[in-house]
Amino acid sequence: MLVILSGVSGAGKDTIKKELMKRDSRIISLPSYTSRKPREGEEEGVQYHFITKEEFEKKIKDNEFYEYDLHHENYYGTSRKLMNDKIASGKIIVKDIEVNGTENLIKLLKNETKLVTIFLKVEKEELRKRLIERGDNLSEDEIQLRLGRLDYEESKISLYDYVIKNDEFEKTVQIIMTIIENERRIEKLQNGSRNNN
Ligand code: 5GP
Repeated sequence: MLVILSGVSGAGKDTIKKELMKRDSRIISLPSYTSRKPREGEEEGVQYHFITKEEFEKKIKDNEFYEYDLHHENYYGTSRKLMNDKIASGKIIVKDIEVNGTENLIKLLKNETKLVTIFLKVEKEELRKRLIERGDNLSEDEIQLRLGRLDYEESKISLYDYVIKNDEFEKTVQIIMTIIENERRIEKLQNGSRNNN
């Protein structure tokens, strides 16, 4: 099962993903490739595989990505090989992808993999506060760029199975855990009825 988490940068997706993995050992992450520089505390192969723009473009040419996107002037992409290996392991993959990537993955995988898509919604003023407090020293222009992106991301909300108002960390984590449990149950029931037919 692949659980896609979207929502603007600064919505706390990475912290939520980490907490989900801590609470349930069946949940794993799937680091994307990116050409952006690591932030403080990020490690190669944990949040992302960090490569250069040139290396990324070579991988695009070699058709190594299910999907990729240029986002805030950096590339981000989902490796076909890493994704296929992890799906085959039977674990619950939680992946953080922006809306364009989600749209592409839904088209590519909806008939092959159990997909659950979740959008985390944050108010604009709350997002501004989080971006300032996150300690990345973003300039006012960079903050404006991310705030501007919020309207675009929200315009795609109808793609998603679930929308969560992400204003309380513990509540958001609990809601996602419940969604995952229920979706697992539905998947088992559907597989059962398919096998009986
Ligand atoms: P950040 O730089 O804050 O880690 O991520 C920026 C955006 O890139 C986030 O919205 C994140 O969801 C998105 N992103 C991360 N990995 C991928 C990916 O593999 N494909 C796409 N399309 N977007 C990604």
